[in-house]
Amino acid sequence: MEIPIHSNEPIFATMMYPQRTCIGCRQTRTKSELIRWSWSPSLGVKIDLEGRLPGRGGYTCLSLSCWEQALKGHRLNRVFRKPIPIPSLDELAEQFLHQSHRKIGSLLRAAQEAGQGISGKKVLSEQLKAGQVRLLLMARDIAEDLKGQYLDLCRKEGIRVRFLPASKRELGTLLGDGWRSALGILGPHLPPKIEGILEGIKNFTVKMPGSF
Ligand SMILES: [Zn+2]
Repeated sequence: MEIPIHSNEPIFATMMYPQRTCIGCRQTRTKSELIRWSWSPSLGVKIDLEGRLPGRGGYTCLSLSCWEQALKGHRLNRVFRKPIPIPSLDELAEQFLHQSHRKIGSLLRAAQEAGQGISGKKVLSEQLKAGQVRLLLMARDIAEDLKGQYLDLCRKEGIRVRFLPASKRELGTLLGDGWRSALGILGPHLPPKIEGILEGIKNFTVKMPGSF
């Protein structure tokens, strides 16, 4: 696919942030905002969150309606330049959620290993009060009273909160021991990445609830 250059944009910006067009809505966006779809004869159409799959690629926004549009008519045949078996929306959403859960799991493990992931009620409460936590992630089945306490602390300190598509047991297993109700993320780098993936999961979970 060619990189479109808009006359009203400085060329260097286009070079630094490659642009791609969504197969669905046909809007041009920065490549990093879009999801890569790949096609190869052996694998068929695959969602490629890591951008590593071989074969020809196309891009869509992170939106169900763009995915529905992309699957209509002969759009995929044009993108991949041959008649190909068109996958179902459910199949693609399932691939997307599976990859997203795997990706967020590895980010949370990386946060913990780097000392950027804080859990355990006492330590986490201290870090929340100290305003050290950038993002608080809660398990979907966290106890109501604990949730209330954490939410109060986060409100006071202006800390962002998100719910994970994981239970306490799943979060505990992911992080290596027992049950975990919440995980506080420190540092500036991981929170936007984690929130970006959670936002995507939210867009597609309406269609297909899932867990890690
Ligand atoms: Zn789109």
